[in-house]
Order: sequence, then structure tokens, then C-alpha cells
Amino acid sequence: FAIKMDDLLLQEELGKGQYGTVKKVSHQVTNVVMAMKEIRLELDETKLQQILMELDILHKSTSEDIVEFYGAFFIESCVYYCMEYMDCGSLDKLYGDGVPEDVLAKIAISMVKGLKFLKDELSIIHRDVKPTNVLVNRKGQVKLCDFGVSGQLNKSLAKTNIGCQSYMAVRSKERKSEEGMPERIKAADTYTVSSDVWSLGLSLVEVAGGKYPYTYDNMFAQLRAIVEEEPPTLPDHYSDEARDFISACLHKEPSKRPSYAELLQHPFIQKYIDVDVDMASWATEAVNSQQHRQ
Ligand code: ATP
Ligand code: MG
Repeated sequence: FAIKMDDLLLQEELGKGQYGTVKKVSHQVTNVVMAMKEIRLELDETKLQQILMELDILHKSTSEDIVEFYGAFFIESCVYYCMEYMDCGSLDKLYGDGVPEDVLAKIAISMVKGLKFLKDELSIIHRDVKPTNVLVNRKGQVKLCDFGVSGQLNKSLAKTNIGCQSYMAVRSKERKSEEGMPERIKAADTYTVSSDVWSLGLSLVEVAGGKYPYTYDNMFAQLRAIVEEEPPTLPDHYSDEARDFISACLHKEPSKRPSYAELLQHPFIQKYIDVDVDMASWATEAVNSQQHRQ
């Protein structure tokens, strides 16, 4: 069935991104609570229809590592994207001063499996892997969202953002994951699967250390560091397996970064894959201490 605006009861705002606002909504026909993302685009009806058509493949194939897609519609030139509501929010709000190694491992496993699913089942690369696009719920599940399913939507979003992209590298709240990537700084058209692997590594360093690893107060110093300096590493208290996993993802030469299948076989993943980590308690405590900080 199709979701319509009339069936939705709007609740509180969950957050704002570069392209629009995410609100909690309740679908009154089914009583399902959803997250609705509003994306403002100046597009004609044909292109908007194309976006809805392209998003439709998300109905056919689902994964426990990907935020579920419920449906999309447009009103005037805004696209409304309805997805599973994740009641602990995104990782950037949960990691605090950094997460313990077993939690990091479970996050890494979900992210690698999610990215592998997108590539193998839907033939898409994510293009925006970063902590705000990794969501958590009270069951302790970790899922990816905001992947580039629709070519038309990717193109339209890229256009709305022309000119301000490199400037945003210094404003951490509005950072795009590709800004911290050596190959994107050197050449503009080289986005591949292994670029997502770099962003995965960088996101995990951020989640482990509690801050974005490149912190320069000026953009040129930051861009130079990304291209010229040694890639970031995990803090010392992480195991050698964990540190090796990160340095494999953060290989500066894209073709030397591992595939998802290789990452799943890595000793870091293998060490934790059968370990039962209480992710539900971690998520609940992380939400509570976040509310405490506010
Ligand atoms: P950017 O615009 O650079 O992608 P962003 O990912 O923070 O940044 P949005 O995707 O618009 O921006 O999301 C805004 C915020 O809303 C996120 O940071 C996240 O905390 C929250 N959010 C998004 N989707 C959901 C969801 N399905 N469930 C719960 N919270 C969500
Ligand atoms: Mg997002």
C-alpha cells in the first residue's frame, strides 16, 4: 500500500541535515511509528516520479542491517521518505567519549554486512557512510540508512550542494563523508566501493575515539593532512586485531583496501562474531547519558 501525508500524524523533529528535516510520525492506518525525511528539491514531476520508481526496489529486498523503507511520496517539489524509526538515534549522539571494543566490533559487523548487502543485492554503493547515517534501536540493532539508491536523487542532491561542499569540510556538523577521503580530494570522479570502505574505517575511528579524527581549524590543513599524512588509528587500548582492521580499511590506495567478504573474515570480526555482546544495554545507557549531557 502507498503511504499518504493525510495518514500521518506528525510528532517531534528527530534532526536536521543538509538537505532537509527528519520527523517522527505515526502512520494512523497501521499504527506504525516511522521516521519521515523531507527533502526539498526543485524538480519537475517526471524526475520526481523517477525517484519514486528508483526507491521502489527497496520494497523487494530487505536486510536486518539496513533501515527498513516504508514508502515515499512527493508534494509539490518535496520528496517525503518514510522509514523505520530507530529509537536510540544515530551513532554520533551515542558514542560519547568512545565505545568499548566489543561494541565497536558489533557495530563494524552490522556496517560491513549492510554495505555488502547493498552491493551484492542492490548493486549500490552507499556514498555517505558516517556516524549520523548509522542508527541504533533499544533492541541493540545497528542499521545503515541514507544510501544512494536512486541515481536521480543522488544527481539532484549533488546539484543543490554545488559550491559549498569543500567549505563544509571544516564544519563538522555538516560534513559529508567523502570530504575526508584521499581519492575524492585528488580527483572528483573516483567514487567506488572501496571509498565506502575508507568511510567505514574513518567512522569506526570516530566511534571508538569519541571524535572525528581529523581536527584542524582550517580546511587546507585538514585536506593536506588527509592526503599526505598517515591515516588515523584507533586509541592504544584497542587490540591489535581491531587496529589492523582499521588500518586495512584506511589504506590510502583504494585498490589495496579489502573487500567486504575479506573484512568479514578478518581476525577482528572473527574474534567477536560469535560473542554475545549486550548491545541493548549499551544503547539504552548511551541514550540516557546523552540526555544527561543536554
Ligand atoms: P547529512 O545531511 O549530512 O546526511 P545527517 O545524516 O545528520 O546529515 P539527516 O539524514 O537529515 O542528516 O538526519 C538528521 C538526523 O535525524 C540524523 O542525524 C539522525 O540522528 C536522525 N534520524 C535520521 N533518520 C532517523 C531514523 N530513521 N530514526 C531515528 N532518527 C533518525
Ligand atoms: Mg543522514
